[in-house]
Amino acid sequence: MKDKMNRREFLEKVSLLGIGAIGAASLLNACGKKEESASQGSGQAAKADPCADLTGLTADEKQLRVTFQYVAESPYPDKLCDNCGFWVAPEGGAACGGCKVIKGPIHPKGHCTSWVAMPPS
Ligand code: SF4
Repeated sequence: MKDKMNRREFLEKVSLLGIGAIGAASLLNACGKKEESASQGSGQAAKADPCADLTGLTADEKQLRVTFQYVAESPYPDKLCDNCGFWVAPEGGAACGGCKVIKGPIHPKGHCTSWVAMPPS
């Protein structure tokens, strides 16, 4: 009888674990959807960003933008791409400049983790 109770207890625990696993999977799935929505939101912001066209960049070059956490809108009002030592000013009235560290179009008001103060001229 004791053996049977143990088996029952075991099965109850296994079923609880199963329910827990399903709950955890649902929770993770929900979190993923929330992140997906957030990234879609930034995707809409990216559409408004005139410097979001990464056509012609290799996967590694695109990854470098991610690695250095490049954003088109700097969270630091005093640390912008256009006052960074690596900034390459746009030419011919273009909206986007460039960068000596990461490839592709760079928003003048952007930022990344490689930001350094522009040396005095
Ligand atoms: S290094 Fe970073 S902050 Fe500086 S210009 Fe390039 S992308 Fe902007």
